[in-house]
Amino acid sequence: MTRVEIKYTKLFINNEWVDAVSKKTFPTINPQDETVITQVAEGDKADIDKAVSAAKKAFHRYSEWRTLDASQRGRLLLKLADLMERDVKYLAQLETLDCGKPVKNAENEILWSAGVVRYYAGKADKILGNTIPADGEVLTFTLKEPVGVCGQILPWNYPIPMFIWKVAPVLATGCTTVIKPAEQSPLTALALAALIKEAGVPAGVVNVVPGYGPTAGAAITHHPDVDKVAFTGSTEVGRIIMSAAAAVNLKRITLELGGKSPLVICNDADVEKAAILAHNAAFSNGGQCCVAGTRTYVQSGIYDKFVEKAAEIARKRSVGNPFENVDQGPQIDQDMFDKVMGYIDAGKKAGAKCVVGGGRIGQVGYYIQPTVFADVKDDMKIAREEIFGPVQSILKFDTLEEMIDRANDTDYGLGAGIVTNDITAALTFVKHVRAGSTWINLYEHVVAQTPFGGFKQSGLGREMGEEGIQQYLENKTVTISLPKKPFLQ
Ligand code: NAD
Repeated sequence: MTRVEIKYTKLFINNEWVDAVSKKTFPTINPQDETVITQVAEGDKADIDKAVSAAKKAFHRYSEWRTLDASQRGRLLLKLADLMERDVKYLAQLETLDCGKPVKNAENEILWSAGVVRYYAGKADKILGNTIPADGEVLTFTLKEPVGVCGQILPWNYPIPMFIWKVAPVLATGCTTVIKPAEQSPLTALALAALIKEAGVPAGVVNVVPGYGPTAGAAITHHPDVDKVAFTGSTEVGRIIMSAAAAVNLKRITLELGGKSPLVICNDADVEKAAILAHNAAFSNGGQCCVAGTRTYVQSGIYDKFVEKAAEIARKRSVGNPFENVDQGPQIDQDMFDKVMGYIDAGKKAGAKCVVGGGRIGQVGYYIQPTVFADVKDDMKIAREEIFGPVQSILKFDTLEEMIDRANDTDYGLGAGIVTNDITAALTFVKHVRAGSTWINLYEHVVAQTPFGGFKQSGLGREMGEEGIQQYLENKTVTISLPKKPFLQ
């Protein structure tokens, strides 16, 4: 088993490493072999209270942080990006150990995330209000001000990118934050906290408190001094967070939730290329991806050929020790393993044709065979619910008009893709599909410059791009009386 040094297991509050007030710890589990990697301090309400007061103090109007030149906030972000690149090998190993993703993927995610940090660095001193022509008696302009103390709750599927999506806009806009990583993957969040301190970010600006959702997570959403909550995870928990935020103090919220995204392959597509694209859309990160293209709709003219190709590619997908050169490691934990296996069973029972996979791999570790179902019908559970595992559902369609209705027949609206050389067909689909990100002849291409988020029950608000920055700002209108006659005689 690969050994990775674990440097940080305590809570990070006010730039210091501390035990939980309760002294409790929780185990983080290696998904490769189901052993305990290490014990991590378990934050709950008392620790969240401490972290929020540190974040509130750091947000005081005369604090070092609030009085820092905006361009200096940008420099801190640039330094953080450099440190992430310096430590990329270590961070990748730690990520792989804690959540089982192939180490080469973890490295790519870190380098990509450093790019996101640099995007926000460039934004820090370009947060601009407007001057607004109003009536003749006043002069008006707007100030964009940091929203305040943020509470940020993370998922386990992309621990480093999700940490960066949350913390980079906080640093760019001059907010402060208390972050709770997912209980399944707390280790890299703590390692990133150490880099944030090393970059020179003042105490209290970023606080990281690992712990469980109903305790530490709920303490964040119920805290009256938290001004905004940013959450990525399940729609179910998103709903709980929205009502807690509404009940306590009308916190601002952004939610990045689940999806059941359609990828549509038209008759004119190159079958081999389209099958590879659809495979990557469904199986990327072991299918543990909110925007995964899990409903593969294939037009009837190429359907049989496509299913054959999709099966051939899935059969070749290498699954195993994520520290080696594989396409897929284990799923995150026992719960998700059971949930995904349950969906595979449901697919078989509902009469979908399991053309590849359908079982577990080995007896130890949460490994699941890449699984392809053909002849899936829209009303089957595997076509309606988010599986979050290595399962592709292939469905047949005849016309684009029918396809648009079927693509939209879901509670979700995160992503959608189409593969065709017919520009009219592509743009008609993109115009009418109700999803936050759409792709033509590619899938899951996500960059820092463009907004990301969902329609319908896939979320609220956007992260990244200009829209992402605005979610961390309040607008203040300033109106000044102008004299109606000459002021200087
Ligand atoms: P989850 O939504 O339960 O957990 C995500 C985060 O929310 C974790 O940090 C968790 O501790 C926290 N949390 C849980 N309950 C909370 C509460 N009551 N108050 C505040 N915070 C709370 O997700 P999960 O259990 O990790 O996965 C379950 C399902 O969520 C998956 O099957 C998948 O469908 C979905 N998911 C989606 C994404 C995404 O990126 N959209 C990511 C992870 C999981």
